[in-house]
Amino acid sequence: MIHRIIFAIVGCQLAITVLGNDESSHHGEWSYDSDTGPMYWYYDHPQCNGTKQSPINIQENQAIYNDSLTPLLLFNYSTVFNNSNYYLTNNGHTVILGMDSNSSISVGLLWKGKQYNFFGLHFHWGENDTVGSEHLLSNKHFPLEVHIVHYLNDYGNFSNSLNYADGVLVWGIFYQLDNSIDVNNNSLKDVFNNIRNVINAGNKTNILPVPLSSFVPQNSLDSYYHYAGSLTTPECSESVLWIVNQKIMKVSSSQLQAFRLLKGHLHNVSDSVEPEVLTENDRPIQPLNGRKVFTSVPYFTGSSSSSLLTATALYIIFSFVSSVFL
Ligand SMILES: [Zn+2]
Repeated sequence: MIHRIIFAIVGCQLAITVLGNDESSHHGEWSYDSDTGPMYWYYDHPQCNGTKQSPINIQENQAIYNDSLTPLLLFNYSTVFNNSNYYLTNNGHTVILGMDSNSSISVGLLWKGKQYNFFGLHFHWGENDTVGSEHLLSNKHFPLEVHIVHYLNDYGNFSNSLNYADGVLVWGIFYQLDNSIDVNNNSLKDVFNNIRNVINAGNKTNILPVPLSSFVPQNSLDSYYHYAGSLTTPECSESVLWIVNQKIMKVSSSQLQAFRLLKGHLHNVSDSVEPEVLTENDRPIQPLNGRKVFTSVPYFTGSSSSSLLTATALYIIFSFVSSVFL
């Protein structure tokens, strides 16, 4: 009896899968299609049927301003650790960027007075350039969403942090399509080029050191949405404080292509066992169930230009009335 044990800890997910040579045993397996797809995750992972699940559709004009949502304070996001090993790996569900560091210097962020340490960064994409992000912004998809995963320093490590409602902080960043960007003169060039070197589940490749700040839009620390949710993959733990960035990065169509070539774990296809092709890895949006979405910005600056115009017009009228009558 040969048993294969796959143990993967990744950004948004902690997956332990034990595969026996008895193919009737699929306990714990999950994927993005067929009978192990998102609709069925809760069979083996009951938390995926919880009431505070992620991702969600963020309705910009319904987000509630909250003045306790102070700017993120980053530490060592811009630091390049030249003595550390930076790598990409395909864990069968996504590509993870990680680093093995001997340094005692921590990387992460401070939010609302709490220290969250960097744990990993990974990607979500879709079958074509019009879909792929897990969160939606006023019903709009983006072709790529990056998740930068952190755990609360007080809880010691990522696994332990999953037991607490404030244990994990995931910073989600949308990437929009822009084919005019110069992919050869881009701080993420080496990262995107190396996606092709981790085609199969389990592949790992070293990359040039890259600061985490390269994945984040400039001047974006004070404008974000926040809500309480979950990991978007099994075990779907409801332990995530989500920060979804309002400013958006750019990615080209050619950079996106490589993601769709990736392969996942083996699963049954008709009569044979083949790797899942990861043409997409975005979980469908989940119900809010009464949860509130908050914004750090005290006025709506969303994608709806008509609302922005209305707000601007009201402001001008108010200013005029104020100047005449007050
Ligand atoms: Zn994720």
